[in-house]
Amino acid sequence: MKCPICKKTTVWEGNPDRPFCSERCRIIDLGNWSAEDYRVETALPDTEEKAEIPHE
Ligand SMILES: [Zn+2]
Repeated sequence: MKCPICKKTTVWEGNPDRPFCSERCRIIDLGNWSAEDYRVETALPDTEEKAEIPHE
């Protein structure tokens, strides 16, 4: 079968990242549909940390 991300032929058996060819393609696919949620989730602690360290 083929990796849905890079269209490279990939093995199914013994492949922990199936149906993708590699962990990279798996993460790319994950990012495709959860990018918005992920951004919202990480935005809060990130801005909090930045506000706590005024560097100037
Ligand atoms: Zn791939």
